[in-house]
Amino acid sequence: MDPNEIFEYINESIKWLVIAGGSYLGALFCTQLIFQTTLFRRKIHSQTELEEIVGIEAKKLGLDTTSINARFDVEGYVKKDGKKHELCIRLGVSGTDATVRHELYHIFKKDTDYDLTILRYFLLAEPRATLYGCFGIKL
Ligand SMILES: [Zn+2]
Repeated sequence: MDPNEIFEYINESIKWLVIAGGSYLGALFCTQLIFQTTLFRRKIHSQTELEEIVGIEAKKLGLDTTSINARFDVEGYVKKDGKKHELCIRLGVSGTDATVRHELYHIFKKDTDYDLTILRYFLLAEPRATLYGCFGIKL
């Protein structure tokens, strides 16, 4: 095989990998943007309301609500600190019940128990949390 031909195959493969990866990430981001935001979901207005929703949604997943501290922050995330989980959501368009469900699903699937590789995060943890947060689909 001619080296130029090999180079052409590699070039073409990289191009399609970038297109497929970009489309995948775009679809994931758009799904979150449309179905997890206040466009279709209930906005959370207060700390009391946040704790109430965390209680309801955590119970649905069989999670211990006493081990989850929920609060508002400038970013939405969940992390494990010792035996407790810190669940933070933004006070804004993404501060919804669907976002709470999304973050709780990370706890349910133990995504917070170890450091995720970037591939595991984008190809497994994030899409399944998005599906549960947006549509209630458990994978
Ligand atoms: Zn997530």
